[in-house]
Amino acid sequence: MALFRNPAVAISKQLSRQSSLSSVAALSRVQGRVLPLAGRAFSDKNSTQTFDYNKKNEGKSSNIVWSEGLISNDERVALTGQRGATLWITGLSGSGKSTIACALEHRLLKNGVNTYRLDGDNIRFGLCKDLGFTAKDREENIRRIGEVAKLMTDSGCITITAFISPYQRDRDLARKLHENSGLKFLEVLMDVPLAVAEQRDPKGLYKKARAGLIKGFTGNDDPYELPEKPELVIPTHEHDVDESVDIIMKTLTDHGVFKKSN
Ligand code: ADP
Repeated sequence: MALFRNPAVAISKQLSRQSSLSSVAALSRVQGRVLPLAGRAFSDKNSTQTFDYNKKNEGKSSNIVWSEGLISNDERVALTGQRGATLWITGLSGSGKSTIACALEHRLLKNGVNTYRLDGDNIRFGLCKDLGFTAKDREENIRRIGEVAKLMTDSGCITITAFISPYQRDRDLARKLHENSGLKFLEVLMDVPLAVAEQRDPKGLYKKARAGLIKGFTGNDDPYELPEKPELVIPTHEHDVDESVDIIMKTLTDHGVFKKSN
C-alpha cells in the first residue's frame, strides 16, 4: 500500500495515475455505488480500503481517517442472508428483561439465527467496569452499549440488550446511532407496575434500596422515564416467559428481521 503525506497530495497523485483511476472504478463497481473522488475519498491502487476524509469526527482523537470496506450493509445481508437488528429491552429492575432476553436468545439460536445478548450486569464486569450508577455514568454506560450494539447489528447479528436504561435521552441516542447508519433499532418496554417488580425482587435490590443501602436505585430514589414511542410494550406480569418471547418473535417477523425460513 502506498503512503502519502496528506490527502490532497494523495488524491492528486491518484488522479494523475490512470491505473489508480481504473482501480477506483473497479472498486466502485465492486461496491455497487459511486465513490466521489475529489476531496472526499479515494482508494489506494494496491489496497482494498477506501478512505473518507470528510467523515465527521466528534471524538478526542485527531489524525484519524474513516476506512470503508468493500461491502455495504445491503451486500453483507445479501451474502450472509441475515439482516441485523438491535432489540433494546428497557424497564425497571425485576421487570423481566434478563429472563426474557435469555429465553429469546435461546429461541432465536434454535431457529438458526445469529444472535447475542448484552446484559446490564454482565457488561459492568468488563467493558463498563469503570462506571457506577450516577446519571453521568449511566449515560456513558448506555452510550457504550449503543455503540457496541450498533457494531454487532451492522455485522448482521440480532443484538438483544437488557439494560434498565432509565433515561429517554440516552435511549434516543442509542436509537440515533443506529438509524443514522441505516440499522434497525426496536425499543421494547417490559412494562410492569413498580409494585410487581418490587415484589419479584430477584436480587433483593429493592429491599436493600428501601433500607437505604443502595443509593440512586431506579424506582426508589432515581427516576425511570417511560419510553415515548417504543416499538413494543410487554406487560410481563400478564404473560408467561414463552408468551413474551412469542410476542417479540412476531415483532421481529413483522419488521422483516426474522423469517420463518431462517
Ligand atoms: P430484570 O433483568 O428486568 O432486572 P430479571 O429477569 O432479572 O429482571 O428478573 C425478573 C424476575 O421475575 C425473575 O426472577 C423471573 O423469574 C421473575 N418472573 C416471574 N414471572 C415472570 C414473567 N412472567 N416474565 C418474566 N419474569 C418473570
